[in-house]
Amino acid sequence: MATTSSGELEAKKSICPFCGVGCGLTYSEDSGQGTGWEGSVNTRGELCPKGVAGFEMLDADDRITQPMVRENGHLVTASWEEAFDRIEENFSEIVEEYGPKALGFFASSNCTNEENYLLQKIARKIGTNTIDNCARLCHASTVAAMGQQLNVGAMTNTTDDLGEADLFLVCGANPAEQHPVIFNSYLGAALRDGTDMIAVDPRENQTASQADLHVGVTPGYDIPVLNAMAKVIVDEELHDEEFVAERTDGFEAFKEHLADVDVAENAELAGVAEETIRDAAHRVAEADKVASFTGMGMSQHRYGTDNVHALINLVLLTGNIGKPGTGVNPLRGQNNVQGAADVGASPSSLPGYQSVEDPEVRAEFEEAWGFEPPAEPGLTEVEASHAAGDEIQGLYVFAENPAITEPNSGRIHEELQDAFLVVHDMFMTETAEYADVLLPGSAWAEKDGTYTNTDRRLQRVRQMRSPPGDAWLDLEIIQEFGRRMTDLDVEYDDAESVFDELTSVSPIYAGISYDGIGESYQRWPFPEGAESGTDILHEGEFFGGQKEAPFALVGHIPPGDDVEEDELVMTTGRVLQHFNSGAMSRRTETLMRMRGEDTLEMHPEDAAERDIEDGDWVVVENERGSVEVEVAVTPAITEGTVFMTFHYADPLVNSLTGDYLDPVAKIPEFKHSAVSVAKTE
Ligand code: SF4
Repeated sequence: MATTSSGELEAKKSICPFCGVGCGLTYSEDSGQGTGWEGSVNTRGELCPKGVAGFEMLDADDRITQPMVRENGHLVTASWEEAFDRIEENFSEIVEEYGPKALGFFASSNCTNEENYLLQKIARKIGTNTIDNCARLCHASTVAAMGQQLNVGAMTNTTDDLGEADLFLVCGANPAEQHPVIFNSYLGAALRDGTDMIAVDPRENQTASQADLHVGVTPGYDIPVLNAMAKVIVDEELHDEEFVAERTDGFEAFKEHLADVDVAENAELAGVAEETIRDAAHRVAEADKVASFTGMGMSQHRYGTDNVHALINLVLLTGNIGKPGTGVNPLRGQNNVQGAADVGASPSSLPGYQSVEDPEVRAEFEEAWGFEPPAEPGLTEVEASHAAGDEIQGLYVFAENPAITEPNSGRIHEELQDAFLVVHDMFMTETAEYADVLLPGSAWAEKDGTYTNTDRRLQRVRQMRSPPGDAWLDLEIIQEFGRRMTDLDVEYDDAESVFDELTSVSPIYAGISYDGIGESYQRWPFPEGAESGTDILHEGEFFGGQKEAPFALVGHIPPGDDVEEDELVMTTGRVLQHFNSGAMSRRTETLMRMRGEDTLEMHPEDAAERDIEDGDWVVVENERGSVEVEVAVTPAITEGTVFMTFHYADPLVNSLTGDYLDPVAKIPEFKHSAVSVAKTE
């Protein structure tokens, strides 16, 4: 195994490591910062501040450059040999004593398709399907709902065609801050040209403030709003009769289901004026083309799957799918969260969303891989951490930070100590502090591979320097783990060889190649023999040849936490300057200068009731935890609701969030937590 050392950055055309937009990014020797190249998404080379500052993290003070092992309660440096000996010994003992299903793997939505593909293959060779990625915490419910109704859980349209919409219906998403290049270069341009926008969100955030209609829903009450809109459309016969007759299934049952919906009652339940709901329904029904967007405000609930079903129902009712400027468009979070699931880092599906429970699929993988993958779906990420020390005895966490990102973090901090924990990362993250073995990996600019962005395009990332000190390439680490734990042939020459194997087992990637991508992109689904990938899904027929999409009968389910009279509802989200758990953005000086601390956004009425003024410090607490934070009083948030981001270790917002899980997608309810707020002494 090569020992590497970092050197000067060699500018090459790569892709931003932060969000799922997937902007082309390279290094500018002149500025010493990131600079955009005319990538396939940022066609004018535009970047947001995160992309510009994307190289600063590479030499962060706590970059891990040597393996570490835990001795007498402390992490001490070790050789690679010692670190892998420790893993091999402990994981093998666990497999011998408890069986392979006692091991769990958290793959990385921040790392390449090739690395995630190989890690899931090794996990399955060891004998477990307990491999998951952080989509479980952000859009698992979106993927589940879209899979059930549309046969595939990915953005139906492309950033290039969305501008053809007459109306954007944005539900629980804030692309102006969270997907800034898509918003500014595609949606913003359309808005300036006359496209209207409805934003359904508890906050008048940067997206909602530009909307023609803001539906300021109470967190957790999206289904009453969306069902009431559907009710108005059906009652007034504004639906697309031809589309409903030809391409949907179960309309009569849906109509009957809506018969019980009372628009006025639903409006009151959701904290929205009835007229606002009626107005929104008419706008959706009367627009020629409606592109809908769904974000974590919809998905991160204990009924997140049903939330997205309610939106898809509206889309089907109005025939807004399968053509430019329409569709259901989840804007994905991490740079490769789409790819991690595409390549099989999932407890229930193999590469290409092929079910582990299908014997024919398993037989095909046996032929390709030389072993049959396990048949029983594994545990999801939150289930696996809940089971630590019990059903799960060993965990391999690859470049994820569950100590910050999982809900009810008091619980996860204990659970991480209950299993033998291997952390493979480049920083001493809050999760790495609990590691029994720490493997120093590589940063985005130190590796080759591919990422799959939010609108299904695969783009290449290119190595611009070597990892520092004794850190290894992530792919090398995973290969060595495979050698130690299995008899698989993991002697790939490079990332491209791994990619070629991936395309041979994943029909949706079958026609894609490194040469084909070049300095542009290729989009899935791209079957073998096709000339190009498919841009707009569900044209003529639904994905996979499905003729009709069913309506889903969903009704309101109350959120998990009861809210007492003196309590407020806390919801969480992102801001422009930071990303995910902050593992990268909090190690970026420029971004910390722009926004170094979190605040609690609070409505003036709620603040006045508690004698709180802008800039005061408050204690936010509930039965799960307590944090102290500075208050930002603003009318931009719905009365009764407060907002914090999830980017900071202190205040750690997830010490307050609950771990109620959606029964289908097992996504936690991050977006609704009852809290009390009081001024600090
Ligand atoms: Fe990077 Fe996303 Fe910003 Fe583009 S929009 S520069 S991909 S963080």
